[in-house]
Amino acid sequence: MKNALLIVDVQNDFCPGGTLAVKAGDEVVGVVNRLMSRFPVVLASKDWHPAETVHFERWPPHCVRGTRGADFHPDLDVTQIDHVVLKGTANTDDGYSAFEATSADLGFLLRRAEVAHVFIAGLATDYCVRATALDALAAGFRVSVVTDAVRAVDLKPGDGEAALREMEHAGITLVNSEALSR
Ligand SMILES: [Zn+2]
Repeated sequence: MKNALLIVDVQNDFCPGGTLAVKAGDEVVGVVNRLMSRFPVVLASKDWHPAETVHFERWPPHCVRGTRGADFHPDLDVTQIDHVVLKGTANTDDGYSAFEATSADLGFLLRRAEVAHVFIAGLATDYCVRATALDALAAGFRVSVVTDAVRAVDLKPGDGEAALREMEHAGITLVNSEALSR
């Protein structure tokens, strides 16, 4: 059984300069690029919204499909990504979790690739990373979050830290990329 790296929403709109920028969100790119070669299976999600969606009553418009804001960060090494899944594609759903992707069945892709353990990186800790990690656990995978490869929105200070504690309490392990690079 294999390990997979699942890269959540490392897109322009979630990085500095984007419409829903996560503080220092672009700092995950270098860490993720270094990690990818360590994994036999690398998957990535994209927030991929229609121009009008109830989701934008909650959040500033971001990651509208086909726009530059929805592109991956330009420094992300996409050549190492095996498969990209698209989420938040309907005008009715938030699509925080990569397991809500509509372009493919993420759980099926992982099981078909004989993945037992999913390592999660990306943006943002307190929303899409959290939802994806908890869904991965519920789907029966072992789950780890790479703590130096995620960044939080922190609408309230401490939200990201609280999300990490919640995930840990649920049975998700927190790991540092250094430990995976040895
Ligand atoms: Zn969104």
